[in-house]
Amino acid sequence: AHSQAIGAPKIPSVSWQDIGGLQEVKKEILDTVQLPLEHPELLTLGLRRSGLLLYGPPGTGKTLLAKAVATECSMTFLSVKGPELINMYVGQSEENIREVFRKARTAAPCIVFFDELDSLAPNRGHSGDSGGVMDRVVSQLLAELDGLHSSGDVFVIGATNRPDLLDQSLLRPGRFDKLVYVGVNEDRESQLQVLKAILRKFEVDSSVCLSDVVERCPTQLTGADLYALCSDAMMSAIKRKITRITEGLESEAGSLTLTASDFSQALSDLQPSVSEQELQRY
Ligand code: ATP
Repeated sequence: AHSQAIGAPKIPSVSWQDIGGLQEVKKEILDTVQLPLEHPELLTLGLRRSGLLLYGPPGTGKTLLAKAVATECSMTFLSVKGPELINMYVGQSEENIREVFRKARTAAPCIVFFDELDSLAPNRGHSGDSGGVMDRVVSQLLAELDGLHSSGDVFVIGATNRPDLLDQSLLRPGRFDKLVYVGVNEDRESQLQVLKAILRKFEVDSSVCLSDVVERCPTQLTGADLYALCSDAMMSAIKRKITRITEGLESEAGSLTLTASDFSQALSDLQPSVSEQELQRY
């Protein structure tokens, strides 16, 4: 039985330029994935291919990073959300996991992205079903991960907001043994870079000063928060245009340009989605 939850792997269209900031993280991910792919001989010399675990608050760009590295390395991308693989029928969850890796091998070189990995592999003993379905899911996942070393061109990236809930056996050498923290944008410079990356797809009036915009932002913003700021500004631009059209001052033709007042409007509603308290967790 083929699970509906598992799509077909394909090369994504997210580029590095779509991701602002996170310079160090980008470099680390690229090194881990690209080096063994371009120099398979290094594997026989003792370079270990490892899986990556991206952890950090929601909306910080983990999915975006995993996609961009696939694009950059011309690898197909297979994204699965932990909870989607869990099935009530006996044996089906394990079969779903086998199916994921089968698909990945067929589409190799392939990156398998496990989002919400903690829900797929919660700390054994803590999930409250010792010997139950979650135990068997973790065992199957470990078996598949350990089997990857011979094939070579399937790479796994996991993502979680709760690394503390993860079954520790997943983090052993040869599995998700490279942990990379993806955090919020705390300084103006990285906020500016994220804003610029997002606004590549918007038209912005030349009078808008983006440094001014970030100066007026709260600190501790995720990429998703900054994306919300831009779509709020867009919404303000749309409303403005509609008003002008109904007043007969403007035609429907023409593009939408974000102005300084659109950003001011959007800034007044901007709240960091991740609290200081949540950040303490990492
Ligand atoms: P979750 O933990 O909720 O799955 P995530 O860390 O995987 O979140 P993404 O899905 O990658 O977060 O990011 C959500 C959205 O936020 C992206 O689609 C993008 O619009 C924006 N975004 C996040 N980080 C960045 C960034 N560094 N540069 C540009 N846009 C970003």
